[in-house]
Amino acid sequence: MKQNFALKLFKVFIFINILFVNIQVFAKETVNETNSQIQEEFEEWKQDFRKTAIQKGIDSGFLDTVLPQISYLPRVIESDKKQSEFLLTFWTYTDRVISDKRIRDGKNMMKKYKSLLQKTSKKYGVQPEYLVAFWGLETNYGTYKGEINTLNALATLAFDKRRRAFFTNELITLLKIMQAGEQTAFKGSWAGAFGNFQFMPTTYSAYAVDADKDGKKDIINSLPDAFESAANYLSKMGWNDSQSWGSEVVITQKLDWNKIHAKGKMPVSEWEKLGVLRADGKAWNAKTKPIMARLVLPTGVEGPAFLAYRNFDLIMRWNNSTLYALSVGILADKIKYHHAPIYAKPQQSVISRNDLKEIQNYLKDKGFYKYETDGILGKGTRKAIRDYQKSIGWDEDGYPSQKLLNHLRKEGAK
Ligand code: CA
Repeated sequence: MKQNFALKLFKVFIFINILFVNIQVFAKETVNETNSQIQEEFEEWKQDFRKTAIQKGIDSGFLDTVLPQISYLPRVIESDKKQSEFLLTFWTYTDRVISDKRIRDGKNMMKKYKSLLQKTSKKYGVQPEYLVAFWGLETNYGTYKGEINTLNALATLAFDKRRRAFFTNELITLLKIMQAGEQTAFKGSWAGAFGNFQFMPTTYSAYAVDADKDGKKDIINSLPDAFESAANYLSKMGWNDSQSWGSEVVITQKLDWNKIHAKGKMPVSEWEKLGVLRADGKAWNAKTKPIMARLVLPTGVEGPAFLAYRNFDLIMRWNNSTLYALSVGILADKIKYHHAPIYAKPQQSVISRNDLKEIQNYLKDKGFYKYETDGILGKGTRKAIRDYQKSIGWDEDGYPSQKLLNHLRKEGAK
């Protein structure tokens, strides 16, 4: 379970990085740029890793052929360390990942692979538009699967000390896959994910499928294998193809935060009683009313609002990011329906990491926040903001808005 959680967190991290780092061409996968000291340490690490791998059941003869070919890639570490200056908002994120072109391409993919998608959809109980939406977000429909040797990427990250246990496990899993001959050559992202749906080795190991029955689970080059593997993963998590991911809503009255915090999830009909209505102005139908849903406010009460169903939570288990999950759902809708707008009006204000640090500092002074003022929007920061909002009678959305910052600055100046 712990491993799973680390994987989820890590996927968010790489996704955010991939958005912000200009996709770099790793043309030179050589060690030229590395200084000799790191190179020496890397060779020593290989010896230690060799012992660990043997303990985990990798054949020593196999390691003798593979290990000498593994290289340290300095740019993997550079990419891994990059952080963006601004927090992603719903609008900046969706502008990037749900472009008009991506929607058009998605509709074309639905036509082009209609029979394959329908067959996969029936077999696993996952609607085709969701498979296409994941595919679009992960690799732009297979056009950016990554060209980095996965062995080198994972070895570099396993050698680096920051998340050694996590990547060592992924690397050993990859070696087991290679040793079993399921697939022998892996290329993908700098973070060690590969194939049309960017699986990490542990995900591949648990869920990959040989759909075209050629004896290999080839999620990089075979679309039947890739689609079935993604559908199998979603299906095993409990995907429900009689429901969607959720729906955009409008908040028409002051929210009852005590009830929302106490219950978390409520039937759509309960939300309706709290004044949470469909954004398109239509009434909920009888089939939707009993569905358990939670309220998702990616940029606070003043931004767009959504009711999210169980499938939404499964998208977040694939990649533990609210913005990613919303994007998969919205892209799926836009691919499937001719008219699937977002009704909320785009907001312009974007706060930077420095702004968030400032908010954290104010909340620390006031006794609401007790962690590092790092400019990262984590659980502790969200809770501190919620607690402070509650104390001054504001909506408890936990969102670090410009309005909140202005308010705190005024307070601080007193
Ligand atoms: Ca195959």
